[in-house]
Amino acid sequence: MNTQYVQGDCIFTRINKTIKQYEYLTEDIDTEVIIVGCGVTGAILGHYFSKNNINCVILEKSRIGHGSTSITTSLLQYELDDNAMELKSYTSIENIIRSYNLGIKALDEIEEFINEHGNKCDFKRVDSFLYTDKKLENKEMKEEYYIRKEAGLPVKFIDEDNNPFLFDVKGGVIGKNGGAVLDPYKFTQHLIEVSCEQGLRVYENTEVLDVQYSENDVTVETVYGYKVKGKIIIAATGYNTGIFTKRAFGTKTTTFNLATKPIDNIENIYKNVIIRDNKDPYTYFRTTKDNRLIIGGEDINFIPDIYNKELCNKSYETLEQRLKSLFPNLNIEIEYKYCGAFASTQDNLGFIGKDPTNSKLWYCLGYGANGILFAMLGGMMLSKLYYGEVDKDINLFKVDRFDQ
Ligand SMILES: Cc1cc2nc3c(=O)[nH]c(=O)nc-3n(C[C@H](O)[C@H](O)[C@H](O)COP(=O)(O)OP(=O)(O)OC[C@H]3O[C@@H](n4cnc5c(N)ncnc54)[C@H](O)[C@@H]3O)c2cc1C
Repeated sequence: MNTQYVQGDCIFTRINKTIKQYEYLTEDIDTEVIIVGCGVTGAILGHYFSKNNINCVILEKSRIGHGSTSITTSLLQYELDDNAMELKSYTSIENIIRSYNLGIKALDEIEEFINEHGNKCDFKRVDSFLYTDKKLENKEMKEEYYIRKEAGLPVKFIDEDNNPFLFDVKGGVIGKNGGAVLDPYKFTQHLIEVSCEQGLRVYENTEVLDVQYSENDVTVETVYGYKVKGKIIIAATGYNTGIFTKRAFGTKTTTFNLATKPIDNIENIYKNVIIRDNKDPYTYFRTTKDNRLIIGGEDINFIPDIYNKELCNKSYETLEQRLKSLFPNLNIEIEYKYCGAFASTQDNLGFIGKDPTNSKLWYCLGYGANGILFAMLGGMMLSKLYYGEVDKDINLFKVDRFDQ
């Protein structure tokens, strides 16, 4: 059975026309680095490797940016899925702070890319806001606030007395300049465009069927029989890693998103912040450049093939009601409904680095809610690793860190 990871009317691949199509592979080729998968992660890797003068090729089985990249909400924020105190049982506060700072570094890198190459993906740097509407959880929010404040991160505490939002907030933390939004489909395409100028080769509709490792190289066989030979291979296949390993990465859930039609009277405050509550599962929302609201959440246990219409409609219905209760003053009309697989890990971090038993097989898997920022870190760290430089923070993302 071919597992389906995305379903519905995905806003970003609907509102954007296909920006550019790339040919499929029609000959055997050689390279240094073979990147498999061209979602936002593959595109980011392609950018960093080609920028560092490393010969590389991306092989994409379908179309660029039509996997989970097409349904990501693209709330980019340094904070993780869980609060620091919740994560303490899986990792140390020191590591959590390191992750927060790495998130900021990744945000800065995206901003630098935009400053250098132009803003073709509606990128906007904003604040991030994590909040509760329960009085009892005010203390939890305060703890998060103090942990971040003591680490030197610019934060502001919000409660009933200084709540600038129209919905109920009993406690919350604003991370000043701690987030960003963008259009992930346009960002992916722009990265590829720039990378191709730097020497990257990209092949769409070129599924990798088999990978063979020998002492000096890696050879992949693609769908029409053509082969690509390289020194290493990087799995950037998102939640689909079966052709590389039997290792199970993360826990899969199915998560739901709604995007409204453009709304002309959204208050400015919501255009400069990304928002998430602290419920389990949590609800998150953002605005778009053309004044839509996107809301996500209602995660349920993973359904391999999302054909259960009734279940999906129930989740969409709940999200729509939530949006209407948060913004009773707005005329909310839903235009896009979509859902898909999402994978999370105990420490909320993705996987970046070499396979523990095969030094020619590398991974860049943006699991967790910060997948895009982890992919940026992966691009930076792995392109350095190719030259033998080990980033001091790469151990946070080690592939075998949960092995007993
Ligand atoms: C609903 C939802 C909301 C999210 N929100 C956020 C968010 O707000 N912020 C954030 O940072 N992250 C978020 N994420 C996570 C983020 O979407 C992912 O980290 C990111 O999209 C993953 O991109 P990717 O390129 O790794 O995977 P994908 O986009 O899935 O790309 C993998 C590609 O590999 C290709 N492929 C697979 N197998 C093969 C093969 N054998 N040969 C060739 N190609 C192959 C697929 O066709 C696909 O195009 C969210 C995820 C979901 C599902």
